Amino acid sequence: MTRYLEQELAGQKQRMIDLDLVARGIRDQAVIRAIREVARENFVPDELRYHAYDDNPLPIEDGQTISQPYIVAYMIEALQLGGRERVLEIGTGSGYAAAVLSRCASEVFTVERIPDLAESARERLARLGYRNVLVHLGDGTLGWPEHAPYHGIVVTAGAPEVPAGLMEQLAVGGRLVIPVGAVPHLQTLVRVRRADENSFHREELCAVRFVPLIGEQGW
Ligand code: SAM
Repeated sequence: MTRYLEQELAGQKQRMIDLDLVARGIRDQAVIRAIREVARENFVPDELRYHAYDDNPLPIEDGQTISQPYIVAYMIEALQLGGRERVLEIGTGSGYAAAVLSRCASEVFTVERIPDLAESARERLARLGYRNVLVHLGDGTLGWPEHAPYHGIVVTAGAPEVPAGLMEQLAVGGRLVIPVGAVPHLQTLVRVRRADENSFHREELCAVRFVPLIGEQGW
């Protein structure tokens, strides 16, 4: 990357943080710091690098998307992390949100169902030095039981209902943030908090638009 492009992207990132995150209500300093630390241009296709700090989802391989930065920040803030948690992400995609999460939690486990995406995210995260992230190829509607329970679970694709398997893998006190909707491309962001072994509190946060969560407990 040329020095000019580096400087240009640094300026765009600062504007994105100020105008699209902070001015729209993102307050968690750890999340803002993480967004500042992670270079989104390394997670988008080469020809879209100049658009890395537009506050938009962008296309990645296999017809999928890297989520809009504001939504990434909003969902991670909604997990209410303190920095020492074990977190599960469903929908690795490019690996960008996993990289941001890795700066807000101690361990990140992320599951992707498309083999090419899982492989390239694994390679990219390793190359960029994100050592506390593990990528798994599989159906994330079933979670990743081997590493459960999780203090936070974030799902970056829209489900018809909250998958029971994910609720079971939540630690008591933990939060699950997931887009839920009766049609595949329009959802409400829902936060489920596990109060104790048998009870869960559910709240609706905002309207969102994600690609569908495809799998045994999804579409
Ligand atoms: N978090 C990603 C990022 O930062 O680039 C963006 C994720 S993209 C909006 C949603 C991803 O969820 C896609 O890569 C899609 O293949 C994946 N997905 C859909 N259903 C899934 C499932 N059952 N298990 C795991 N991943 C799934």
